[in-house]
Amino acid sequence: NEVKLPKPSWLKVRIPANALKVKEVRELLADKGMHTVCQEANCPNLNECFNKKRATFLLMGQICTRRCPFCDVAHGKPLPLDPKEADHIVESIKRLGIKFVVLTSVDRDDLKDGGASHFVHCVKKIQTETDAKVEILIPDFRGRLERALEVLKEIKPDVLNHNIETVPRLYREVKPGGNYEHSLTLLKRWSEIYPDCPTKSGLMVGLGETDEEIIQVLKDLRANNVQMVTIGQYLAPSKYHHPVQRYVDPDTFKKYAQTAKELGFSSCASGALIRSSYGAAEQASEFNQL
Ligand code: SF4
Ligand code: SF4
Repeated sequence: NEVKLPKPSWLKVRIPANALKVKEVRELLADKGMHTVCQEANCPNLNECFNKKRATFLLMGQICTRRCPFCDVAHGKPLPLDPKEADHIVESIKRLGIKFVVLTSVDRDDLKDGGASHFVHCVKKIQTETDAKVEILIPDFRGRLERALEVLKEIKPDVLNHNIETVPRLYREVKPGGNYEHSLTLLKRWSEIYPDCPTKSGLMVGLGETDEEIIQVLKDLRANNVQMVTIGQYLAPSKYHHPVQRYVDPDTFKKYAQTAKELGFSSCASGALIRSSYGAAEQASEFNQL
C-alpha cells in the first residue's frame, strides 16, 4: 500500500535560522556527547528551537529496544547507561541558558525499571543545580509500570508527558510494542500520584486514522485526566518507514484544537509542524499552575 503523496505548501514554510546560534548549540551538544531528539529525529523545527536555545534531550543512548515503523531511532542492543549523563545535561542547560527543558528517552526494555531511576537521577540534578523547569516525556514502561512509578514518584517534574501517538486501531501496525489502554493507564496513574502535576500527551496524524478516531482519542485522554495535548503531522523519515497516508490541512488542525478546548484540555498545540516538545514552555505556562 505504498502511497507517495506530494508535500503540500504549508509544510514547506520555514522560519529562517540564525545560523550562528544554531551552530553554537550544535557544537556544545557535540562537545558534550549529548543526543537530542531534535537532531536524531531530524525535527522540522530544529532551526527555530535551537535559535531559541531549546532542545529535547534524548537520555540513555540512541539505540532503542523497540522498532516502531514510523520512527527513525536505531534498533538493537543498547549501550550501558552513562553515569555522567546528568552532569552533561546540567552543564548544557547552564551554558545555553535553557529555562525549560524536555527530557525523553528511547525504550529500555532491557532495564528492570525501564530506565525510571535514570530519569529520577537526571531530574533531581537539574532541579537542584539549575532553575530550569523540567518536562519528562516518558516511555510506556510496559511490563514494569508499577515498579517504574514507584521510582518516578521520587521526583515531581513540571509536566509529565507520555505520547499516545496514534489511535487504538493502528497500534498493532504502528506501535507494535505498545498498548493503547496501558498508555492511558500510565497517564491516569500519574495524575493520581501527583494531582497537581499536569499530564500531557501527543499524537500524530497521517498514519491512516480518521478524524472521528482522533476525536475519540482526545475524549479518552480527557477521561484519564490528561490536561495538555499536541497534534502534529506524521512525516515519514524515509521510504522504508510507514508511508504517510494523508496530509491534514491547517483548518482541520484548528478544528482539532477547538474540539480539544471544548473537551476541557488546558492547552492544545495542533498544527502540521507541531511536535510533542514544540512550544513546551508556552504550553506549560498556559497551565495556570506554572
Ligand atoms: Fe527539538 Fe522538540 Fe523543537 Fe523539534 S520541536 S526541534 S524535537 S525541541
Ligand atoms: Fe522510536 Fe520510541 Fe518506538 Fe523506540 S519506542 S522505536 S524511540 S517511537
